[in-house]
Amino acid sequence: MLHPRVAPMTALASESIGEEHLAHTYSPLNVVVESGQGAWVTDVAGRRYLDCLAAYSAVNFGHGHPKLIAAAKAQLDRITLTSRAFRNDQLGPFAAALAALAGKDMVIPMNTGAEAVETGIKVARAWGYRAKGVAPGRARIIVADGNFHGRTTTIISFSDDPVATADFGPFTPGFVRVPYGNSAAVEAAIDENTVAVLLEPIQGEAGVIVPPADYLPAVREITTRHRVLFIADEIQSGLGRTGATFQCDNVQVIPDVYLLGKALGGGIVPVSAVVGDRDILGVLNPGEHGSTFGGNPLAAAVGVAVVELLASGEMQERARMLGAHLEARLSRLVGKGIVAVRTAGLWAGIDVDPALAPGRQVCERLMERGVLAKDTHGSTIRLAPPIVIEVEHLDFAVDQLEAVLAELRG
Ligand SMILES: *Cc1c(COP(=O)(O)O)cnc(C)c1O
Repeated sequence: MLHPRVAPMTALASESIGEEHLAHTYSPLNVVVESGQGAWVTDVAGRRYLDCLAAYSAVNFGHGHPKLIAAAKAQLDRITLTSRAFRNDQLGPFAAALAALAGKDMVIPMNTGAEAVETGIKVARAWGYRAKGVAPGRARIIVADGNFHGRTTTIISFSDDPVATADFGPFTPGFVRVPYGNSAAVEAAIDENTVAVLLEPIQGEAGVIVPPADYLPAVREITTRHRVLFIADEIQSGLGRTGATFQCDNVQVIPDVYLLGKALGGGIVPVSAVVGDRDILGVLNPGEHGSTFGGNPLAAAVGVAVVELLASGEMQERARMLGAHLEARLSRLVGKGIVAVRTAGLWAGIDVDPALAPGRQVCERLMERGVLAKDTHGSTIRLAPPIVIEVEHLDFAVDQLEAVLAELRG
């Protein structure tokens, strides 16, 4: 049955005016979104879709969250950008609130996730030379196979995705890649020049890959013993998505450094941050790192409101509750067109039987049924709806997936 809130398909949205002027760095689904509220978006033809991607978890709290919009609007009327050459009255409170949320001392505000990762790399190297005593120019950082940390030149230097790297070299040295989920491989890769281990607590782009439960605790123990920083890239896994403030919380691990982004900007402005203690972030001196927009008052005002939303624990609890429901429903589809499902809170990686259809085709059929989702790596579909989604709408999304699979199975 078609959900009553979804208008029937008439014609394909083709309001693509001007798009021939866009470089071909994406191949979006053919839906032209005009507005959104909560978990729903509306296209230019007035059709409604359930947003089951939430901008890769940047819209964890839903489109147009009233508290976040109010914070942004109020700040728009005050001041939006000062640069860090001057102080502004929003940044200090944002840093204090975010540090408290993470249980750390200090924050370096940036804009995009990739910038937070780049900043974390610079911090780790400077800490290695200045605090650990690594020989100049020798610092090494251990990363994982299948990682995704962003798109800048240094970050793709340690990617093993040929699409992300081909023809973009030469690459930045100083990284060692080991298999994900194997703590012995991390320990074996550590030498006297190792300054950090940089990991996604769950690999999002790789297809919501959840490592064994003892992996992150073992990496924590190993990095502590070898005096190596543990940097957790929680840009996608953090801020409520997995039913906790950080995925590290779910496995009782406290990393040295959190990299945050995506939902930190409430889906309104790009806000990212590196969060850690004074003995680590304090190694940087004025002039050594910066960003024209990083820590701007508009971003900080939205960031404060995001931290307030998370401070009550309500969003985390909701993601946990809805996630348990999603997991129960999806697990019943295994063997019916789905070969495997991995979930963490309100986040699912669904491996569609490759013999049935490519992930992209499943997403196209879902779109026709009023559900927007994104495929990754061929046959995996990622579901990450806004945490504010109602349970009956989550059911609607799974119903549509079930119907698409039934269609494809004939
Ligand atoms: C999205 C993402 C990034 C990069 O963030 P951008 O804002 O796109 O630069 C880095 N790490 C992880 C784990 C991500 O999911």
